[in-house]
Amino acid sequence: MQITLQNLTKVFPKRGKKETGDVIAVNDFTFVIPDGKLIGLLGPSGCGKSTTLNLISGLEKPTRGKIYFGEDDVTGLPPESRGVGLVFQNYALYPHLTVLQNILFPLQNLKGAERPTKEQMIQRAEEAAKLVQIEQLMERRPSELSGGQQQRVAIARALVKLPRVLLLDEPLSNLDARLRLQTREEIRRIQRETGITTIFVTHDQEEAMSISDMIVVMKEGVVHQIGAPQDVYDEPKNLFVAQFLGTPPIHVFDGSVRAGSLYLGGTPVLDVPGVADQEVYAAVRPEGFVLNADGPLCCQLSRVEIMGRDTSVVCSHECCTSGTIRAIIPAENRVDQTLPTVRFSLKPNKVFLFDRSTQERIAVSNA
Ligand code: ADP
Ligand code: MG
Repeated sequence: MQITLQNLTKVFPKRGKKETGDVIAVNDFTFVIPDGKLIGLLGPSGCGKSTTLNLISGLEKPTRGKIYFGEDDVTGLPPESRGVGLVFQNYALYPHLTVLQNILFPLQNLKGAERPTKEQMIQRAEEAAKLVQIEQLMERRPSELSGGQQQRVAIARALVKLPRVLLLDEPLSNLDARLRLQTREEIRRIQRETGITTIFVTHDQEEAMSISDMIVVMKEGVVHQIGAPQDVYDEPKNLFVAQFLGTPPIHVFDGSVRAGSLYLGGTPVLDVPGVADQEVYAAVRPEGFVLNADGPLCCQLSRVEIMGRDTSVVCSHECCTSGTIRAIIPAENRVDQTLPTVRFSLKPNKVFLFDRSTQERIAVSNA
């Protein structure tokens, strides 16, 4: 099911005198979500992710804008008529019901012609349980399940109605690190197997990057960038997106451009052809530093952390505004730790320039 969001806007009116004004939770969001894809909706807490999902599910009414499922305008439809499956962070299972009864619950609420026979219900519940691999736990109650198993039950319950759209709001937040990794792979597999258009909300960029066909990066109700995860990582449109994606995070320097060269402090560190003279933010990905004894960028060396495949060179530079630098270099490169400084050259495709006032990306010509 293709989903179209057209100028979707949600304003929550100010409540009480202490609030400074209305909250624009979602601000003029226009986007066509392609059929059968998994979309990661990503941004810091409070940026409007849940509100966007709630608008799509019908739990909230938009202040402005429209939502289409395929050709159908669903903007005025109540949630139960939209054919969406919802999964939340707190699994919200009924504690007194068994797994089977929990999964059956949405079907038993169906009325009239929509309501399957008892046998059909059981069959669909069993199929959904199989998909999330909990078919052997059907007689247990939620308290007898691990967090990961409970979340699978919640996903099965969302799938049993054969939804046109699956909406997942931070579904992995209550799971421990290992289970989070495993369950996100499961969600990816289930999405592929069912082909259901899925929107996956998370504040965790790594989570969104790892399983999404496309990510949508939001901040304060505004969509900042939409694209394939690698494309957004490689070509961030502004400083916020550049900083939000990547671990360790990107390093931001106060820099200036003079005669086609990027200067950090008084030192030219990189050719940036086609860029006019100006003060800039220069952001360097951790993997953009190349160990080079003759390199132009000289940093104060703190320590070297061996991480197996990679080495993390922890150092500092007076122009770096984002604190300590963690340069990630291949493990076979050896850093001379007897020296007080370490020198790097920079990979041009790992350095982004941003306008000091607008924080928008400045294009560098490849010539
Ligand atoms: P996220 O899910 O990205 O953390 P939300 O969509 O929950 O963010 O919230 C976006 C903004 O809207 C926040 O500033 C939040 O305080 C506000 N907000 C959310 N729901 C309501 C509501 N029911 N009433 C008033 N303000 C709300
Ligand atoms: Mg939320």
